[in-house]
Amino acid sequence: MVQLKTDTSIEAMREAGRVVAQILTSVREAAAVGVSLRELDEAAREVLREAGATSPFLNYHPHFAPMPFPAVICASVNDAIVHGIPTTDRLRDGDLVSIDAGATLDGWVGDSAISFTVGRARPEDTRLIDTAFAALDAGIAAAVVGNRIGDIAHAIGTVCRRAGYGIPEGFGGHGVGRTMHEDPGVPNEGRPGRGMPLRHGMALAIEPMLIGGGLDDFHPDRDGWTLRTSDGSRAAHAEHTVAITDAGPRILTAL
Ligand code: MG
Ligand code: MG
Repeated sequence: MVQLKTDTSIEAMREAGRVVAQILTSVREAAAVGVSLRELDEAAREVLREAGATSPFLNYHPHFAPMPFPAVICASVNDAIVHGIPTTDRLRDGDLVSIDAGATLDGWVGDSAISFTVGRARPEDTRLIDTAFAALDAGIAAAVVGNRIGDIAHAIGTVCRRAGYGIPEGFGGHGVGRTMHEDPGVPNEGRPGRGMPLRHGMALAIEPMLIGGGLDDFHPDRDGWTLRTSDGSRAAHAEHTVAITDAGPRILTAL
């Protein structure tokens, strides 16, 4: 069931979202060649502590996972699409990093992700990342009252496919609120004019995931969490939590 948020609740979600933005800023500043993924997780934990917020990622244990998630960020490097566990692995020159972060503040959740490169970027990685953010922008632009979920999905999918990228089926955005994953699901590909009508007070995480090699195939890593591209190509992920309002889409996870 979709939980519509009051304007007061959306303001509270904005504060949670601001913490997520601070986490991503801090992690990106800390990320460099030679820095470990676990050190990035530490940087994120520090932001949560200072904000008096908790992590909706830590100890999250969905049915498919063999163990609770052990960190406050997902760190997905190169062929990892999403759900990467921050290990002691160190970033190397030219790595493509996707960081997904969440925060719970006063009982409300924010969820956002960015992708970037460290060291010398490969041009094809820059194009992949730019397209992920362009797909996110297109999805947000379609998140208006009068549209439907399928319009968001179609907007995202069109940008990804036109650029020649793959889309991992079955993973995408979702409602956000008191918990990280609420109804409705927000697919990254779909038909315009279909699905649930968008209404003032809906809060959605919109999150394109792109596979650089152009195929849609992916598989879980041995750790049971990380999703990897099956062709070994690189992937990018971008996400914002967005409130749908009569005044247009409002990004809740900006700084
Ligand atoms: Mg996320
Ligand atoms: Mg999400």
